[in-house]
Amino acid sequence: MCYKVVKMRIEPNSSQRRIIDHTIDYNRYIFNFLITANKLFFKKHNRLLSEFEMNNLCTILRRRWSCFRVMYSMTHNDVSRRVHQACRKCMDNAVSKKRRAVAKGTMAESDPIPMTWPRYRNHNRYDSYVHLSNWDFGIVESTNENGKKTRRLKLGKVKDTIRCYNQGTPIPGIPKTCIITRKDMGTHTEYYACISYETAESEQRHPENPKAVGIDLGIRHIAATSEGKLYDHQNDMREDLRKLKKLSNKLSKDSHDSRKRRKSLSRLKHHYKRMVNKRKENIEHISKEIVNDHDIVVMERLKVKKLWEKSLGRSMTRGFVNSSLGMLRRRISDKAECAGVKVIEVDPRGTSQTCSQCGEHVGKTLNIRIHRCPVCGYTADRDVNAAINILLKGLTGNPVPARDESPAA
Ligand SMILES: [Zn+2]
Repeated sequence: MCYKVVKMRIEPNSSQRRIIDHTIDYNRYIFNFLITANKLFFKKHNRLLSEFEMNNLCTILRRRWSCFRVMYSMTHNDVSRRVHQACRKCMDNAVSKKRRAVAKGTMAESDPIPMTWPRYRNHNRYDSYVHLSNWDFGIVESTNENGKKTRRLKLGKVKDTIRCYNQGTPIPGIPKTCIITRKDMGTHTEYYACISYETAESEQRHPENPKAVGIDLGIRHIAATSEGKLYDHQNDMREDLRKLKKLSNKLSKDSHDSRKRRKSLSRLKHHYKRMVNKRKENIEHISKEIVNDHDIVVMERLKVKKLWEKSLGRSMTRGFVNSSLGMLRRRISDKAECAGVKVIEVDPRGTSQTCSQCGEHVGKTLNIRIHRCPVCGYTADRDVNAAINILLKGLTGNPVPARDESPAA
C-alpha cells in the first residue's frame, strides 16, 4: 500500500472556526498536562507513562470536564502519541548523555538520568490536531446546477460542511487521516486540511533495458545526474533574504499590539510562505522528472544533520537550508515507491574524489568545481563525476576507495 497526501486550504465559517480553535487550544492544554503527568510519574517510578496510560488520563479529563468533549476522543489519542514521542526522544538523549558521561568518568553508574523535558507549548507553538480515523471526517462531493463538481469537508462534531479551496486535485483512494492546521498570518488566520489516503502501489517496473541514474545531491547544484544534467535552485535566495531582513526590521519597529504591526507581520509571513513554496515547488519538479524518466534511481545515503554540523560557516549552512536535501531525498523515495521505481542507497564516501572513468584518486577541495583527471584526461563537472561514481557503486556493489572527505558538495 502507498500513502499520498492532499493539502488544501479550507474556509470554516465563524461558528466552525470557534470549534476548531477550541479543539486546538484544549489539545494544547492536554499536551502540557501530559508532560507534567510524565514528569511526576518519572519521579516516582523512574519510567515514562505509556501511550495507553496517557489515553486513560485523557478519558478521565473528558469525563470530568465538558470542555474536552467538544471533539471526539480520537483527537486526544494523537496528543498522547505526540507527548510519548517527545518524551521518548528526550529520554533517549538523556540516556546516551549519561552513557558518555559515565565513559568519561564525570558521572557514576548509580547517578540518576539527567532528564530534560519537552517544552510546554504556548498558543503560538501548538497549531494542529488530527482526525485519526475516517469515520469522524469525510469529503462530501456534489454537483451544482451548472454541472460543476464541488467539494466540502465534514469534520467530526463541527456543524455543517466546510468550504474547501482545492476542488481540482482528485482523491482516488480511501481517506485515512486528516490533519487540521491553523496558521496565524497577522491580519487573518488560515486553516488547512491535509488528507492522507491509501492507494494501491504500482507494480515494480521491469523493462528489458532498465534505465538507471545516479544522483549526487549538493549545495551549488541541488542535484546532478549521471547523465550530465544539473538542477539548480529556482531562485536566488539572497534577494529573498534581503527582503525578509527588511520586513523583520520594520516589524520590530512597530509598536506592540497595533494595527500597523499586524499588517507588517502579515507581510512578513506572506513573504516567508512564498519563499517556502518556491523551494517546495522546485523540489517537487526535480523529483517528478527524475522518477518519471528512470526505472532505477541510485542515491547517496545522506545524513543531513551531520553535514550541517560539519558545514563551514554561515553561508554554507544557509546553502544546506536552501537546498532542502533531506526533503528532496524523501520526495524522490516516496514518489519512486508509488511509481514502482527501485531506489538504491549507497555510501557517498570517496565518490567525488575518484575519477569515474579510470578509478584514479583525484583529490580536490570544495571550491574546485571541475573534475580533471591527470591519468585519463576525463573532464566533467565535479557533481556529475560523483553522480557517475554513485551509479557505478549502486549497480555493481563495488566499493569506491573510501577516503575521508569534507561534506560532499
Ligand atoms: Zn581518470
